[in-house]
Amino acid sequence: NADAAMYRAKETGKNNVQFYTQEMNSSLEEKLALLDGLRKALAENQLLVEYQPKADLASGLIFGVEALVRWRHPERGLIRPDIFIPLAEECGMIGAIGDWVLQQACQQARAWQMAGLPPMTMSVNVSPRQFDDLRLVARVADALHGSGLAAGLLELEVTESLIMRDVGQAVAKMRELEAMGVALSIDDFGTGYSSLSSLKRFPISRLKIDKSFVRDLDSSADDRAIARAIISLAHELDVRVIAEGVETEQQRAFLQTNGCDEMQGYLLSRPVAPQQIEALLVQQMAAAEQGRFQPAH
Ligand code: C2E
Ligand code: MG
Ligand code: MG
Ligand code: MG
Repeated sequence: NADAAMYRAKETGKNNVQFYTQEMNSSLEEKLALLDGLRKALAENQLLVEYQPKADLASGLIFGVEALVRWRHPERGLIRPDIFIPLAEECGMIGAIGDWVLQQACQQARAWQMAGLPPMTMSVNVSPRQFDDLRLVARVADALHGSGLAAGLLELEVTESLIMRDVGQAVAKMRELEAMGVALSIDDFGTGYSSLSSLKRFPISRLKIDKSFVRDLDSSADDRAIARAIISLAHELDVRVIAEGVETEQQRAFLQTNGCDEMQGYLLSRPVAPQQIEALLVQQMAAAEQGRFQPAH
C-alpha cells in the first residue's frame, strides 16, 4: 500500500513524494508515541472504566451494565477504546489491560451487591487475542475469585467476527466458560457472516444488534428489516436480544413493537462513572417502592 502511494507520488513529481512520505511518517510516529504512552498507562493509573446501563425494553428496568475502558492521556485527554484496544492487541498488551478491566468490573459489581443494590449483570468485552489466550478461562476464574463475584453475574461479550473465525475452537472455549457459570453474548451482531447452523452451536444467552442497524431505523426500510430479522433469529435460537446505540424514542418504540427484549444507548444513559450508576439504581429502587416506576426514557 505504501509502495503504491509512493509510486503514484513519484509519477506526479518530487514535491508530492515529500508530501506522501511526511504524511506516512507522521501517522507512524503518532502510532509509536501512542504505543509508548500505552505501556505506561496501566502503571500510571491512566486507564479507567465507565459503565453503561442495559434495560429491559418493556419495563425500562436496568438489569445490568457494560464495562467500557477509557484512557485518560496526560496530553491528549480521553482516548476512545476503538483507538487503543487495537493497538494493545497488536503490541501484546491486551492481556494485561483486559485482566485489569475484568478485575475492576468484577470488583465494582461485587461492591454494588455488598452495598445492597439489586444484583446486576456485569458485561465485559473480550477482543480476539484475549479470547485466543489459552489462559483466558483461568484469568476469568481469577477475577471472580479475587472479587468474590458470583460467576452468574458476569457476562462476556465477544464479537460475531471473532467467533466465526474458528467456530469449533470458539464453541469449545465458550463451553468452558459456560460450565463455570459465566454468560456469553454476541456483540455487534449483523456485521459478520454467521450461518444459522453455526450460531446454534454457540452456548450464548444474548445477541446484541449492532448500532449501525439501529442508527437509521427511522429512515431505512432495509435496517428495519434487518433488525426484525435479528430479533426473530434470536428468538428462534431461544436467546435474548438487545439493541445497542438506541438514541431516540422512535428507535426504542420500533424495537419494543417488534419484540426486542432489551436496550442500551444514550436514550437511557451514556457510559458513566460508577457513582452515576448507583444514583440511577437508587432512583429505580425508590420508584419501585412507591409502586410508580418511571422508565428512564
Ligand atoms: P462495543 O462493545 O460494541 O460498545 C458499544 C460502543 O457504543 C461503546 O463505544 C459505547 O460507548 C457506544 N455507545 C453506546 N451507546 C451509544 C449510542 O446511543 N450511540 C452511539 N453512537 N454510541 C453508543 P466505546 O466505549 O467507544 O467502545 C468502543 C469499542 O471498544 C467497544 O464496542 C468494544 O468493542 C471496545 N472496548 C471497550 N472497552 C473494552 C474493553 O475493556 N476490552 C476490550 N477488549 N474492548 C473494549
Ligand atoms: Mg460490547
Ligand atoms: Mg457492540
Ligand atoms: Mg462495537
